[in-house]
Amino acid sequence: MDFSGKHALVTGAAGGIGQSIVSKLRAAGARVAVADRDVSAISADTHLPGDLLDPAYANTLPAQAAEALGGLDIVINNAGVITRGSVTETSDDDWALSMGVNVEAPFRICRAAIPIMAQIGGGAIVNTASCWGLRPGPNHAVYCMTKAAIASLTQCMGHDHAHQGIRINAVCPNEVNTPMLRSGFAQRGFDPDSAVSELGKTVPLGRIAEPEDIADVVLFLASDGARYMCGALIEVNGGKPVT
Ligand code: NAD
Repeated sequence: MDFSGKHALVTGAAGGIGQSIVSKLRAAGARVAVADRDVSAISADTHLPGDLLDPAYANTLPAQAAEALGGLDIVINNAGVITRGSVTETSDDDWALSMGVNVEAPFRICRAAIPIMAQIGGGAIVNTASCWGLRPGPNHAVYCMTKAAIASLTQCMGHDHAHQGIRINAVCPNEVNTPMLRSGFAQRGFDPDSAVSELGKTVPLGRIAEPEDIADVVLFLASDGARYMCGALIEVNGGKPVT
């Protein structure tokens, strides 16, 4: 995939999947603006640190990226948080955090990016949903709900903005070996390495995903190879669908 001449904004750029997306986009020739709370350790063309819970930051990120990079062709809404537990274990703070980062911020970023992309004749947005947004797993009620929300929003935007040459799709990973997954094991008292290895045995391909497995699909959706895809929800699950 060749992204020469393309300008991309990646949120959650300091996270497990985000770092892989950024380095692959840059290796393929894109100029990349990185957004996360702390992006000081990330190699990129533009650094736009901030908190996605701040509406003013999310609303202005696409314009900031376009100005700094000299254009905006690609937006990757990758940032996310996971709150665990059933509804009766979910606090108002958990609700606000999950909705704010997983749904409201990508909504704001898409709303701001679409007119910028429309002006230059099109672009590609890739949102990050989850297999659990398509079929919920147990004891992560609000997380699953937010991923279903961003999946639905992706389908809506996918058809609403195709006529502007803007393709909006989502990647839906199952388990990925990143800090998000590993911190959950650590919180429950498991050794993350052994837990990841045990979990891998439940996947038909024999291992859970590494960040690169997801980043490659994100790049495909952002690339011209996916030029006829709009509103698609692409599961990346190693043969292990959530049932
Ligand atoms: P991660 O925790 O490594 O990365 C998430 C990044 O989002 C972090 O760098 C974090 O700082 C950033 N972020 C969170 N809240 C923010 C805020 N308020 N402002 C700015 N940045 C913020 O997790 P990851 O596994 O790389 O997750 C990337 C995406 O993949 C997420 O949307 C996640 O829900 C999704 N996903 C992950 C898995 C998995 O098993 N790891 C499975 C399915 C979907």
